[in-house]
Amino acid sequence: MARYLEAKCRLCRREGEKLFLKGSKCYSDKCAIERRPFPPGMHGQRRRSKVSNFGMQLREKQKVKRIYGLQEKQFFRYYQIADTMQGVTGVNLLMLLESRLDNMVYRMGLATSRIEARQIVRHNHITVDGQLVNIPSYRVKVGQRVALAECANEHLRIAAAVEAAGQRGLPEWLDIDLTTKQGLFREMPARDQLDPNIREQLIVELYSK
Ligand code: SF4
Repeated sequence: MARYLEAKCRLCRREGEKLFLKGSKCYSDKCAIERRPFPPGMHGQRRRSKVSNFGMQLREKQKVKRIYGLQEKQFFRYYQIADTMQGVTGVNLLMLLESRLDNMVYRMGLATSRIEARQIVRHNHITVDGQLVNIPSYRVKVGQRVALAECANEHLRIAAAVEAAGQRGLPEWLDIDLTTKQGLFREMPARDQLDPNIREQLIVELYSK
C-alpha cells in the first residue's frame, strides 16, 4: 500500500492543528506546530484570503484522512461504505475509521501514534480473539478482544507507549487492561466521545457533490 513518507509535521502545519502523527514528540515542546504555527512552504506566513466552502470541505477531508493515515482511495472507500449504512453518514464514517485494527492498537496505548500501531500490526505482534492478525485495516467488531502477542511482550518501545498512555488516559468505549496489554471493543464510541474538532459533515458534503 502507498504511504506518505514526507515530514509528518508539515501535515499538521498545513491543517493548522495537531494531528498527533509523531508519537511522544507531539506532547513535547518540540512539536513543530507549537514552534511554527503557520502553513509550511515559502509563502506559509502570508495572510490567507477567505477560504471558500469547497476549500473548507477539502481541508476537513484531508485532515481526517491524515489523522487516520489513509490514502485517498482507501478513505473514499470508507465513505462509500458509510453512505450505504443506516444512520448519519459522517458518523458512520468515523465509526468505520475507529474500528480499524491499527486505530484500536493506538487507542489501547500499545503505540504512540497510528503509524507506529500499523507497524506493530504488520509485524505480527497483535492478536484478535487469540488469532494473529497482521492487516492494519482489519475491522474490529464490538465484542472482539485485541491483545499484544506474547512474542512482543518484551518490546521496550511498546512498554514506553503503554506507560505514556496510562498517563494520558484511555478511551471509555474500550475495556483496556494495560498490565496484560489487551483490550475489549466493548461498544462503538458515541460521537461526542470523539474529537469535537472534526466536522465530518463537511466531508460528506464534499463527496456527495
Ligand atoms: Fe503534528 Fe506531532 Fe509534528 Fe506536532 S509533533 S506537528 S502534533 S506530528
